[in-house]
Amino acid sequence: MPNTPYDNLLAGVPTELYIGGEWRPASDGARLDVTDPATEAVITSAASASVDDAKAAVDAAAAVGPAWAAKKPRERGEILRKAFELIVKDGERLARLMTLENGKALPDSRAEAAYAAEFFRWSAEEAVRNLGQVSTAPSSGARILVQHKPAGVAVLVTPWNFPAAMATRKIGPALAAGCTVVLKPASETPLTALALVPLLEEAGVPPGVVNVIPSRRSGAVVGEMLKDMRVRVISFTGSTEVGRKLIHAAADNVVKPVMELGGNAPFIVFDDADIDAAVEGAMIAKMRNMGEACTSANRFYVHAAVHDAFVEKFAARMRSLKLGNGLEDGVAVGPLVNAETRDKVVHLVADAVAKGAKVVTGGKAPDGKGFYYPATVLTGVSDDAELLREEIFGPVAPIQTFRDEDEVVARANATEYGLVAYLFTRDLSRGLRVSERLEFGMIGLNRGIVSDPAAPFGGMKQSGLGREGAHEGLMEFLETQYVSVNW
Ligand code: NAP
Ligand code: MG
Repeated sequence: MPNTPYDNLLAGVPTELYIGGEWRPASDGARLDVTDPATEAVITSAASASVDDAKAAVDAAAAVGPAWAAKKPRERGEILRKAFELIVKDGERLARLMTLENGKALPDSRAEAAYAAEFFRWSAEEAVRNLGQVSTAPSSGARILVQHKPAGVAVLVTPWNFPAAMATRKIGPALAAGCTVVLKPASETPLTALALVPLLEEAGVPPGVVNVIPSRRSGAVVGEMLKDMRVRVISFTGSTEVGRKLIHAAADNVVKPVMELGGNAPFIVFDDADIDAAVEGAMIAKMRNMGEACTSANRFYVHAAVHDAFVEKFAARMRSLKLGNGLEDGVAVGPLVNAETRDKVVHLVADAVAKGAKVVTGGKAPDGKGFYYPATVLTGVSDDAELLREEIFGPVAPIQTFRDEDEVVARANATEYGLVAYLFTRDLSRGLRVSERLEFGMIGLNRGIVSDPAAPFGGMKQSGLGREGAHEGLMEFLETQYVSVNW
């Protein structure tokens, strides 16, 4: 094998399917290429599961389901706790691998490795908090005994933008609840999910409890698994478009859908906001993951009285971010994940500019290899610009002005999405009043980040169904059973 700069980053990273505790190629030998977005070079390939492989993975998960469910909660918790520690210990290697296959700059990847590990720590603690309830029926006097049981096999489908954290956010609570899983990671980023497997094995996850099957044939493979009666939960993170298809597919066997879908987050700055804090929040809300996040601020509404002051400070910060290969020191903005994502950003900015927007900084993709796009600020964006309705999924901040509270609430809510909204004000009663009026599952009030394993993450409207993290995340993988007792 020739020495490439990738060899040491890829050393020891499995590239086959992981089914029933064994590594194997796809039944028909199919593979999918993995690309470095910084160079556009193919760095390796991974096995691409067939429908038969998906059936085998469900068989493997179902076979060990009862034994895993019967394990004492503390034992399941200890395994998850160990997995947390192993990911933390291996964080730097995982971070570099994420940067290699996703493009995001190392500080983002390091933050994700830590965030991903935290879902296992939280789930370890939740494993022993599956509480039931006993009460007396008001009329009959019978006892109402309620307990929660593992739902069964869970199919987990994850996106490329957080290749580690979206996997652990699902695997953690599923295993804590006593479910076994089949994970289908995104085709753009299969390596991170595969690299987690040896750590899970070392932590003591028994064969068959977690199965990982990358596949380019995602529709067929996931569709097949949803036909299997033993599959009881489909937990998906990705686009609303695909989520809708999966809700349809889940209907046939009445499989529980847990859907974390797209967003179109408004970022509101009132005239009484602390402008420095708002700029700080904007940097995180917009630039975490280079805008490739469902939580990314997609529309900025800044009160007319503070618009110029905010834009000046925000644009200066955006301008200072170094664009480059995410593996290099000092780089804050790596390449976007693929040509399609970069081209969409190019198109959305061109559309906004054609409709009158002014480019304050950025706005032009550099020539040469790599799916680069610089941190960009647009002002004077017109209401009909496409990027106010569509997820940008890139480092572009379109800014508009507003004058009063009712107006900005109406504009913020005028979307089919309802994942997250951000607002900045020094007046806490206004902050809470406006928060209540915003139709979003999560609100960042004077904060540019809401993600937290201890908080219920999820969206209203077409941003999703169900919640991940917190206690709610565990409950998604449990079925409630009630026994009516005479005693
Ligand atoms: P995507 O195209 O919806 O893909 C997500 C996952 O679904 C991938 O594993 C993909 O596999 C798979 N998939 C695609 N078509 C499928 C089908 N017909 N049936 C079953 N699975 C299918 O989304 P993406 O492009 O990876 O990620 C970007 C989107 O995810 C954005 O819209 C973003 O807002 C959303 N997102 C939401 C959250 C959240 O928590 N709400 C978090 C992160 C991202 P392939 O890779 O093989 O296509
Ligand atoms: Mg996709």
